[in-house]
Amino acid sequence: MENRIVNFNPMRVKPNKTVTDAEQISRLRPSQSPLAISLSRCPQWSSLDTLQFKGYWDNEVNGILLNNGSTAYFTFESEVRPILRGGPLIGEYVFEQMHFHWSVDDFSGCEHLLDGQGYAAECHFVHYNSKYESMEAAVGHPDGLAVVGFLLEAVDVPNPRFDRLVEGFERIKKSEHSVRVTSESLSWMDSDDLQEGNYVTYKGSLTTPPYTECVTWIIYEKPVHIGTEQLGLLRQLEGPDSIPIERNVRPTQRHPPGHSVIYVKQVKSKL
Ligand SMILES: [Zn+2]
Repeated sequence: MENRIVNFNPMRVKPNKTVTDAEQISRLRPSQSPLAISLSRCPQWSSLDTLQFKGYWDNEVNGILLNNGSTAYFTFESEVRPILRGGPLIGEYVFEQMHFHWSVDDFSGCEHLLDGQGYAAECHFVHYNSKYESMEAAVGHPDGLAVVGFLLEAVDVPNPRFDRLVEGFERIKKSEHSVRVTSESLSWMDSDDLQEGNYVTYKGSLTTPPYTECVTWIIYEKPVHIGTEQLGLLRQLEGPDSIPIERNVRPTQRHPPGHSVIYVKQVKSKL
């Protein structure tokens, strides 16, 4: 008798080989973001393609780190942009910007909550679908954006991988100040966890006005460590009133009826 691996997938009520996993996710009902997510209640999938990050920290292109008055905001200067593909995404998504959310303490600075656990900060990598001309054009479509979120956990020891970025924070304390940085500022995200780490994905919205429901969210389960002193420099960033930005986090939103969050167990691709 043949040995077959049966891939049980509770979302697949009617098995349909012509519909890919990513297509099934693209058809899920959207919600407002962020969400408090209970991992044990999420359907678990392990059959999605590996997420692929290309040209983020190794592309020899300079970037700009800006204090825009509400967050620290990183963009690349060049037309050549990093590309995200795979996982729940159909096609390619172009990196547009990275920014942070934080608060005054180590537990209420993240936007998403996984099993009720709060963290000091959350970092978002915002991408737009390459089939649209620009970020602005993409926001008008349900498959317009893909945002990858990392939860940042405060620890006593500084994480040397954040050194480059944190040097930048020191120089943009005042609102509207900016500094030129290298793509090495993103090297903290370079780890096997990108290809192997578990994440949750769902169809959601921007967490800042106009809260458009145009985002495929990808939130990694395992938090990234950041030193308390390093976080201190993020919390020193000032708003337009020259007072440190205390909190730039949207509260968690209600799950609408019939809404699903998928818990993805990544299986390392055999390349
Ligand atoms: Zn954000």
